[in-house]
Amino acid sequence: MNNVKVIGIIQCDFARERCSGFGCMNSFCQRIDAFARYKNNAGILAVPFNCGGCPGRRTGRLASNLAKWAKRKSEIDKESIVIHLSSCMVTDNGHYPPCPHIGCIETILRRKGFRVVKGSYKSKTAEKKRGEGVYEPFAWD
Ligand code: SF4
Repeated sequence: MNNVKVIGIIQCDFARERCSGFGCMNSFCQRIDAFARYKNNAGILAVPFNCGGCPGRRTGRLASNLAKWAKRKSEIDKESIVIHLSSCMVTDNGHYPPCPHIGCIETILRRKGFRVVKGSYKSKTAEKKRGEGVYEPFAWD
């Protein structure tokens, strides 16, 4: 993926109650899982934040705030920002089934002009359960 300078990693507010977010940031720093696409780009700034709680409509305002500060502090345009909807939001996983509002959240972000990618950390345990049919399958972008 070209011209990426900032990624926002949005996490489920409920999942965040019991998750430090280490898995997502570790995957980002190692450029693995959903972040493997950035392996040739060492200069990306990652900004994790929560969805703001159900039904996730704050995501638009939060992402806009990210874009505002990226422009103000680093002259980074919205076109260079990618929003990742984290695995706790988009997949059936050890926290919960997928966010029931994910379609609306994605629409809000795309209408605001953000590039959106589904997924972040890829849990081996959850992948195994997807393979066994315990969790719903997930098509990684
Ligand atoms: S809107 Fe979705 S991602 Fe946000 S807290 Fe509710 S279930 Fe979690």
